[in-house]
Amino acid sequence: MQYFFPDSQDLVDPSFDFVKETRGITRLRQRDDCYPHEMFAKPPYDGMLISRAIVEERYTLAQKHRLLRLGAREFLRINDKRLSHLKVMGDCGAFSYKDQDVPPFTVDDVIDFYERCGFDLGISVDHVILAFDVTLDLKAAPKQMVDRQRLTLEYARDFIRKTKKGHACFQPVGVAQGWSPLSYAHSVKELQKMGYTYIAIGGMVPMKTVDILTALSSIKTVLKPATKLHLLGVTRCENFAAFREYGVVSFDSTSAFLQAFKSDRDNYHTDKQHYVALRVPQIEGNAKLKGAILSGKIRQESARKLEKDCLRLLSDFDQGSESLSTVLDKLMEYEELYAGRATHQDSYRKVLEDKPWQACPCDICKALGIHVVLFRGAERNRRRGFHNLHVFYRKVRRLTSKNEKPIAIAP
Ligand SMILES: [Zn+2]
Repeated sequence: MQYFFPDSQDLVDPSFDFVKETRGITRLRQRDDCYPHEMFAKPPYDGMLISRAIVEERYTLAQKHRLLRLGAREFLRINDKRLSHLKVMGDCGAFSYKDQDVPPFTVDDVIDFYERCGFDLGISVDHVILAFDVTLDLKAAPKQMVDRQRLTLEYARDFIRKTKKGHACFQPVGVAQGWSPLSYAHSVKELQKMGYTYIAIGGMVPMKTVDILTALSSIKTVLKPATKLHLLGVTRCENFAAFREYGVVSFDSTSAFLQAFKSDRDNYHTDKQHYVALRVPQIEGNAKLKGAILSGKIRQESARKLEKDCLRLLSDFDQGSESLSTVLDKLMEYEELYAGRATHQDSYRKVLEDKPWQACPCDICKALGIHVVLFRGAERNRRRGFHNLHVFYRKVRRLTSKNEKPIAIAP
């Protein structure tokens, strides 16, 4: 099973000083900031995914121009020997335009984009169907669903014809969209007729696991032995064995990374459990606290002192020179101040008792110590996301057979 990490330009600054909270004076973001594969001796994925929609939304104009000028491998800095095994896949990011009647990109547009980026794999233009109903058969579905599937198949036909005719540098990957097990199977059958041997299954992110398995089982009845499947945006590691039985060879997901700073509880992952990260917000970055200071409810000096005390005590605790109860009390005092009430007592105690960062062998935890479990600023939060990727990828590798051959990319 191959894991692709979708790029969102969430890089980290290697010059960041976690004690002084300052950056190197010569730091140039585009030159010096690092991707996850640059922070670990071994990259925590098998490839990266670049979405056309993310490039439009998250990249600066300069970044977009650099990507198109240099190509994805040089832009992502995976063109050296150590990282040459990483694949780059391109897609359109259909979730971002799910509310529009038709995709904002044409087939020609997208082929040109993939060519200029020099991707290894390119996913055809698709339009996501955000409804799943096992009882709906092929003919009884609402018109909008049928139209979206038809459009996706029309685009796929045009896409593979043009990529073959133009001898594209990338392997074309078709997209199957559906609203029921039968309709997914119909899409896959049609895509295989067009000549696709690698098919991405879309629209499954919001689906229940049981529905995903039912749809894959239906797809399996029409799947040719040589056809490989990719799951767009789906993780569900616990079902890997079943996924493989159904022909799935790859998937992509940002969830392990994003949970580091988007989840309320599951911020720091280990093989056995997830922990909450210890919130020590920067006064300047916390709107509620800043408002209370400006309105005179809280004195800036006392907030600042609490913030600094928390950081100092946490560092001392990591060195073994401070007690758990002193640190916990101070964190609760600060939470009371910035959030109005302290609610994390039990979950914070658990992290401090277990000290999971001290047992983690990853390059991030070894370099950062306790800073990796502090919910504070992008430099810490993203590095915790990188650590999660490392843990996640290790799990993927464990669950994947050692004899598995890498994906063969057609010339
Ligand atoms: Zn780690």
